[in-house]
Amino acid sequence: MSEDTTNKEEIFISNTEIDQERIREATQNIIEAIGENPNRQGLRNTPARVARAYAELLSGYQEDPKTIINGALFEVTYDEMVIVRDIEFYSLCEHHILPFMGRAHVAYIPRGHVIGLSKIPRIIDMFARRLQVQERLTRQIADSIQELLLPHGVAVVVEALHTCSMMRGVKKHDARMTTSAMLGAFRSSLATRQEFLDNISRGAAPLRF
Ligand SMILES: [Zn+2]
Repeated sequence: MSEDTTNKEEIFISNTEIDQERIREATQNIIEAIGENPNRQGLRNTPARVARAYAELLSGYQEDPKTIINGALFEVTYDEMVIVRDIEFYSLCEHHILPFMGRAHVAYIPRGHVIGLSKIPRIIDMFARRLQVQERLTRQIADSIQELLLPHGVAVVVEALHTCSMMRGVKKHDARMTTSAMLGAFRSSLATRQEFLDNISRGAAPLRF
């Protein structure tokens, strides 16, 4: 079986809190740079609100996939495909710090272990709550499930809408993007990959926000 590990990156884990004071100052600077009045009623508390929002939306740096999984690996003899589809996520693109959001679909073929159902969305959130590009987000979800679970294979498909494309310029048809990462059996076997892709396309609603 081929295990593809090309382009694998170390996952950055931060042990310091997000510096909200500096985000407040930076936001104040942006408001002034725009030429707005930072003291008017509606904007007075905006720097503090932005700092709190960023601290929440970018909280993924303080998390570790190993601690998320902790205690939720279960021994099984089941070795058929496990599919969790339509997991909603929200992230920020690292090029513009604007939101991109959509759905992730994850499948794996257990090799003696399965993972608690709520843990896959938690892993996705952990990687989504960082400055991201969709390709890396997809890859990191697949790699971490592969590492933690050592299954026969992992597949991840991410569909997302990018507000940086939707709101800027005229290339609105570029706003929707699909990325995938296929490891192990999903890479080596066309039938396995197809079973997953058929499943996630069944009854799929169009992405809309
Ligand atoms: Zn962008």
